[in-house]
Amino acid sequence: MNSEASRSLRRFVAYATIAFVPIFGLAVVLTRTTAIASQQDAVAAALLQAQTINRSALRPFVDELGSNQTLSPTVREGLKAATTALVDNTTVFRLRLRDISGRVVFDALHPNALPGQPDLNEDIAVVLAGGIVAGRAQFGADAVDGGRPVGVDAIEVYLPIVSSSAPFRVVGVLELYVPYAPIAAAHAATLRQTYIVLLGGLLVLWLVVAAILWSVTSRVHRQSDANKYLSLHDPLTGMPNRALFADRVEHAINANARTGLPVSIAIVDLDRFKEVNDTLGHANGDILLNCVAQRMMQELRPGDTAARLGGDEFGLVLPGVGAQAARSILDRIQLVIGRELELDGIPVTPNASIGWAEWPEQGNDVDHLMRRADLALYAAKDAGMGVVRYAYELQPADVSSLGLVAELRHAVAKNEFELLYQPKVEINTGQLVGFEALVRWRHPERGLLAPSDFMNVLETTALIGSLTRWVFDTAMGQLVDWGEAASGLSMSVNVSVRNVRDPSMASWFEQRLVALELDPARVIIEITETAIATDPRRVMEHIAQLDAAGINVSLDDFGQGYTSLSQLSTLRVSELKIDREFTSLTHSSLKAVNIVAAAIELGHRLGLNVVAEGVESAQSLEALRDLGCDEAQGYLFAGPLSEPDARALLAGVGWVSAVPTR
Ligand code: C2E
Ligand code: MG
Ligand code: MG
Repeated sequence: MNSEASRSLRRFVAYATIAFVPIFGLAVVLTRTTAIASQQDAVAAALLQAQTINRSALRPFVDELGSNQTLSPTVREGLKAATTALVDNTTVFRLRLRDISGRVVFDALHPNALPGQPDLNEDIAVVLAGGIVAGRAQFGADAVDGGRPVGVDAIEVYLPIVSSSAPFRVVGVLELYVPYAPIAAAHAATLRQTYIVLLGGLLVLWLVVAAILWSVTSRVHRQSDANKYLSLHDPLTGMPNRALFADRVEHAINANARTGLPVSIAIVDLDRFKEVNDTLGHANGDILLNCVAQRMMQELRPGDTAARLGGDEFGLVLPGVGAQAARSILDRIQLVIGRELELDGIPVTPNASIGWAEWPEQGNDVDHLMRRADLALYAAKDAGMGVVRYAYELQPADVSSLGLVAELRHAVAKNEFELLYQPKVEINTGQLVGFEALVRWRHPERGLLAPSDFMNVLETTALIGSLTRWVFDTAMGQLVDWGEAASGLSMSVNVSVRNVRDPSMASWFEQRLVALELDPARVIIEITETAIATDPRRVMEHIAQLDAAGINVSLDDFGQGYTSLSQLSTLRVSELKIDREFTSLTHSSLKAVNIVAAAIELGHRLGLNVVAEGVESAQSLEALRDLGCDEAQGYLFAGPLSEPDARALLAGVGWVSAVPTR
């Protein structure tokens, strides 16, 4: 028997037992009341018998009794004749007549006995007042045999005897004891029958109730099982739903809390699913969802869970899977989902974005993990990156950065930003070739802040657009302002991913250059390599736009990102800026030297100008020179300089400082 059936049976037994209790109670009550009714019947029969005797056999002697005299022998004889036949121990035990003083004046068992003593006991007093006493009693209750009472079960009746001439005048009392046994026996037979019918009926009733209960319990169970299933599963794919998913995550966390193994949770979201729904119809949308669900489940191990969280969003729980394994599993899932399928004869290539987070490193409960996986998903979607692991940087403005956003808005409005200019030098000649504009925020309380203090937050808001425009305008304005002193020099400006996604940005730059009458060839826009990875398509478009306008593009922090070689060859950039992490190690690490050498080689083969940033030591510079690097930037020459210092440098005063200014 499976557990469901035994659960139903247990429930049924419980209900049937509960139903048995009132039915049994009813049986007891009915039996009791029938017994009482039968006893009352017996009393009524005895009373009737007494009344009959009173009215017929005693009638002729009533007035004698009322005369208050000792009964005459004639009367006594008459009474004897009228009553002896009655008192035969089967119909009547005792028949006595008492006068109004309670004295026994005639006893059918002892017809010749003399009258006894007056006896006005309670029963007699009631009768003398016109009442009737009738009930169960022990006949001869006082008789004792060997210390045990030997009374016989009887019904006693005390009836008033009334005068024949005055029907309301009580002239004596008739005392009658009738054996109870024969009446009881007669009743017992009827009672037995009644009991059989009664109990049989109740048994049938109970069986009917039990049968109904059985059917109801089973139905309720089936229904509740169905409801439970529905409440925890997605009807379309049959997958666990969001509620069950959360439960599974929690379960996995609890289980792994003991083993210490990680748990990865991922949220998978289909890209452009709405388009499929809108163009091919909901039925095809459903087919696609089912197909994706199947593909996903086929990739999972038995302990993993794939759930549909709603719409085109799925959740995955991968217990015991750490960051590295999760990455490869999710990459594979993304790949599998992306296989082409046909819907109504039309080839469709689904694409999924996946965000994931890891317990315990990135959150300690379901809620945190889900939110973080969600953030990673947004980042993945936003950047068209496919699979993204949660990282702190993805965190949206938290409470403290909310304050920072407000301050930044203020800062943009009140122009609290400043630019520093870091020189760029040609390695072979030592000649200044240009500047890179680096922004600083002169915070009213916290002093001069570097980009790392605010750029992350600023980049999450639209304010970054205003800042970049200001930086570009100021830096280019400055270049124009330096005039002849800076002739032939370039000015580099950094832009962030969000700027690159703004389709109006490139044309804005172009317009500003026209307004400033500045040669676009002197302008370099620096885009970090990681920015390219977040949204390759749009970054490429943006770069092409800049290139078309004659503006140079530099690939900043090269080596940090993962630009593929094919991507690199199609990017219309003119400069590679090797990340300072590698440059700074050129004098100590052979590996770094090899990487830098490869980057320089690669850049040159693609016809790019190669710049090393973060050059701090003469040894590094030497190594870079040997490797054929074109230009360098770093504290060895100068840190970011204030405008007057940069101007002094241009005026030929020489290197102002090799010590970094913030
Ligand atoms: P970046 O574009 O790679 O800029 C070079 C960073 O390296 C600058 O930091 C500079 O001060 C620092 N640096 C220069 N020479 C050396 C050196 O020899 N050793 C070391 N250790 N560091 C050196 P900074 O100014 O703090 O800027 C950091 C980053 O902030 C920049 O990296 C750039 O990505 C970003 N940034 C700066 N200004 C702007 C801006 O106006 N707009 C945007 N979107 N980003 C900016
Ligand atoms: Mg830069
Ligand atoms: Mg850089």
